[in-house]
Amino acid sequence: MSKVAVIEDNADNRLLLEVMLGEQYELAEYATGPEGLAGLKSDRPKLVLLDISLPGMDGLEVLREIRGDVELQGIPVVALTAHAMAGDRERLLAAGFDSYFSKPILDEELLLAEIERLLSSRRPARSASPA
Ligand code: MN
Repeated sequence: MSKVAVIEDNADNRLLLEVMLGEQYELAEYATGPEGLAGLKSDRPKLVLLDISLPGMDGLEVLREIRGDVELQGIPVVALTAHAMAGDRERLLAAGFDSYFSKPILDEELLLAEIERLLSSRRPARSASPA
């Protein structure tokens, strides 16, 4: 069972993701960015679902930390946003997210398919050791 991290401050949203994903993935859940960053290092998930609107350190800052960390930078990160606005997708993909879902997530099958796609397309580590 692949481990998937959820960084989301809203308990109801975390519960919804548990219901949608809990049978297929081992979920590691964190309510804040700093908690999530610490947890990613110890739990080593294969993918991260990252809420954009987090108190304190927001999702974009968390992503920046992930992409700047040699150990974490290659992990696929999916943005989750509420109050989706035009241009969000482009903005978030340009910021370095691998994918994007707006909340509430209504299409469970689409989310599962996207997670599977990302898990099977491993990106090469950007600072790989010399061959
Ligand atoms: Mn939030």
